[in-house]
Amino acid sequence: MTDRIRHYLADRPHEGPRLIVDLEVIRENYTAFAKALPDTRVFYAVKANPEPKVLQLLADLGSCFDAASVNEIRMVLATGATADRISFGNTIKKERDIETARKLGVDLYAVDCVEEVEKVARAAPGARVFARILCDGAGAEWPLSRKFGCVPEMAVDVLEHAHRLGLVSYGVSFHVGSQQRDPNMWDGALASASMVFRTLAERGIHLSMVNLGGGFPTKYLKKVPGVQDYGSAIFGALRKHFGNRIPETIIEPGRGMVGNAGMIEAEVVLISKKSDAKDDLRWVYLDIGKFGGLAETMDEAIRYPIKTRHDHAEKVPCVLAGPTCDSADVLYEKEPYLLPVSLEIGDLVLIEATGAYTTTYSAVAFNGFPPLETIVI
Ligand SMILES: *Cc1c(COP(=O)(O)O)cnc(C)c1O
Repeated sequence: MTDRIRHYLADRPHEGPRLIVDLEVIRENYTAFAKALPDTRVFYAVKANPEPKVLQLLADLGSCFDAASVNEIRMVLATGATADRISFGNTIKKERDIETARKLGVDLYAVDCVEEVEKVARAAPGARVFARILCDGAGAEWPLSRKFGCVPEMAVDVLEHAHRLGLVSYGVSFHVGSQQRDPNMWDGALASASMVFRTLAERGIHLSMVNLGGGFPTKYLKKVPGVQDYGSAIFGALRKHFGNRIPETIIEPGRGMVGNAGMIEAEVVLISKKSDAKDDLRWVYLDIGKFGGLAETMDEAIRYPIKTRHDHAEKVPCVLAGPTCDSADVLYEKEPYLLPVSLEIGDLVLIEATGAYTTTYSAVAFNGFPPLETIVI
């Protein structure tokens, strides 16, 4: 927790769960990315945290933006950033949304099949497109699986088709999986990307850009390499696969830009057991759960650091759950969470590194609970 967050919380009593975001941390993260990859442009992945003040800060720092919908595009434009700083990076778009994006001035679109290329060619003639290639997400704690992208051989055909339809075949993109803890995972994807570049060059189509995606981690409980390690590994892989003809590159950090900038304050609503057996696990219920913003605890994928005022006390394994009347609303059970034995009903807990993928996941009124409130400081 930063001092600024501590001061903010000190004299403001808890009513419901709230996310406090410290803009100073985001500023530091942006600077660290710019330093680790000096020749790469940053396209912040808006979905990680679309708070207007977060977007405004990043726009003022010179960031570009990866948007996935017309609404995200409008939120970026509201900061005063021009449309040439926006990529419509979702491979799954309605044709009328492409048309709207085009009218708003967006000129860069992601595709992963000829069907999507045809939509872009009709709705945004002459625009630039990049083809997303599949990545299996190995080494990532929140892999993006097979939903997006096509095999590299198909990306060649997709971009050739785009060229034939009068679009600008601009480049290749991939995402190595979110919370990617291995900086070397960019190597294989860059090998495939360079194959796509070479094959198309033989057909007279010259690509310009590699979109290196997101995947940069936030520190939760386990250690993660620093952004500088990612920068060197990526630069090494670019050198290896593109030699001295390194293309224009962009990154799309989401989690790595905002994750450690936010912290959720929550309250213990109930602590109980399911039987009188002496070794029965304690169940700790918070006023926030999977539907209040902690959806990434699905399959216990992301394990957040949790701080309490009893952290010096002995810790015991607990099942941690949310407040809604849905049995899926259990955060950690397969691997119980160690919490202080002296934790009490009514205590506040601080859930750290929750600046990314929390507010955007929170339901509007499941059981009447309001969506996660954000306070930006
Ligand atoms: C979500 C997303 C990102 C951000 O990923 P992180 O792992 O949070 O950095 C980047 N690019 C695309 C296309 C995405 O969908």
